[in-house]
Amino acid sequence: MKEQPGIKQFGRIARLPTPTGYDFGDINSYAILPESGSDQLVLIDTGVGREVCWQALEVGLKQFGFAIKDITLLLLTHGHTDHFGQAARIKAASGCQVWGHKAIKASVNRYLPSSEQIAREKIFFQGLGLDDAMYDKAYRYRKHMDKVYKPCELDRELSDGYMIPIEGFELETIHTPGHCPEEVVFWQAETRQMFSGDHLLTNITPVCLLHVPESSEVERIHALTEYYQSTDKVIPYDIKYVYPSHGDVIYDHRELIAGYKLSTERRLLKISRILEKNGALSPLGVAQQLFPKVWESQLYAVMSEVMGHLDMLADEGYAAITQQDEVLYYSSISVPEPGAIFG
Ligand SMILES: [Zn+2]
Repeated sequence: MKEQPGIKQFGRIARLPTPTGYDFGDINSYAILPESGSDQLVLIDTGVGREVCWQALEVGLKQFGFAIKDITLLLLTHGHTDHFGQAARIKAASGCQVWGHKAIKASVNRYLPSSEQIAREKIFFQGLGLDDAMYDKAYRYRKHMDKVYKPCELDRELSDGYMIPIEGFELETIHTPGHCPEEVVFWQAETRQMFSGDHLLTNITPVCLLHVPESSEVERIHALTEYYQSTDKVIPYDIKYVYPSHGDVIYDHRELIAGYKLSTERRLLKISRILEKNGALSPLGVAQQLFPKVWESQLYAVMSEVMGHLDMLADEGYAAITQQDEVLYYSSISVPEPGAIFG
């Protein structure tokens, strides 16, 4: 197999991209190379669970004189298949430890949803205006899920502030939910470097995925709001280099986050104007106005985007929520002034 483009060394860090097969291209795994005399080889995220990705990782590591079987510790930023898909196989081949945030367990151990879960999700999405055919479409990606990962057991649950003992390269765990509940980033204080998972990305704004509550007693997470609480946690860090899971190194995380806030604010304004013009709309109604071309083909991402923004508008007092025949409707109270949301 040929060398993967994008492989690069930054001091003790080796960037090892592998293909995902998705529109957003490669995922970067990062190896932390051992200090001389040590055999501690750490890998952050794994790539998708496909043979081609296994080979790509093997070829990447070989360039630095290592093999997958040499990995001693695998750290997971979160439980999406491009990040943990190969974890079970890597663990079996190397005997390594696998560590991730405690909330990751729901993702990395998952199998295809039970019929009870599907029934519950259908009712939830009906409340947003979707019928059952749309629901099937939104989740059709799940049909292929079992081909790109194997369930994996965690050896250690990470929590916010947990210090990961790597010789000469200790990492602090920072819990940054938003993109998903279990997302963490890893901070190396001495060299001022951060591994950002999907929390901070080059050229793509992270999607804050819609949370479907596990039962009627569980309150739905407002993922976009949570995301910005997490960015506010990361902003004060004096970071020199951010290594994202997709794309090249980020040099100014504060500028990047300011850009995210600006585009969120624009979208809030746009949704606000849609509500002002149309009166009360269901979340699906907003989605159809906001994304007239892609709402149907990318329904889960689109509904995530719409709900995140509607939550913010409602929480900040710019939109009112009513319910009719079990469906939620949002209407405009007022349109936010520029700068009103993030100050
Ligand atoms: Zn992700």
